[in-house]
Amino acid sequence: MGRRRKFTDIEKYCNKCVKWLPLDAFGENRRTASGKQDYCKTCHNAYTGSFWAKVAAYEQLLQQKWRMTPNDYLELWRTQGKKCAICGASLTLYHRDTLVRVFGCRKCLLCAVCNKGMECFRDDPRLLAEALEQVYGTANGEGGEKDKQKGAGDGANESPGKDAEKSEG
Ligand SMILES: [Zn+2]
Ligand SMILES: [Zn+2]
Repeated sequence: MGRRRKFTDIEKYCNKCVKWLPLDAFGENRRTASGKQDYCKTCHNAYTGSFWAKVAAYEQLLQQKWRMTPNDYLELWRTQGKKCAICGASLTLYHRDTLVRVFGCRKCLLCAVCNKGMECFRDDPRLLAEALEQVYGTANGEGGEKDKQKGAGDGANESPGKDAEKSEG
């Protein structure tokens, strides 16, 4: 009863699973008298892996990285219809694949893939515009440049796509 130490040289008591366990079942913690965590590794992991621990970690990230309150975050999520602002993939609150992206002074929620995409383009509008131009350039048919040159003297050319294939093959 009473103030008995909850650890010895070989074992320690876990308050969570209410058991005596060998010392190596506990993680290190220099701030405690025993030099070990209060709870055994299993109990400790169960907590840090829990939903609320994740939410707490995420809210800290919101505050530190994006200067957002949990309310701002919730509001943004609702405004976007719970979807990624770019591709429309549905976003789960407090999930690690739901990311905040800052565009100028505006914030958006993006899925991990679109966020990665923005990272690849270094958030640079010029690079994005350039990429878009390349995409549309290709979508208009390969050899679009060639057709333009040829088109100057060839008024009857109504199917540039087919023509481009012929001239290549
Ligand atoms: Zn335990
Ligand atoms: Zn997306």
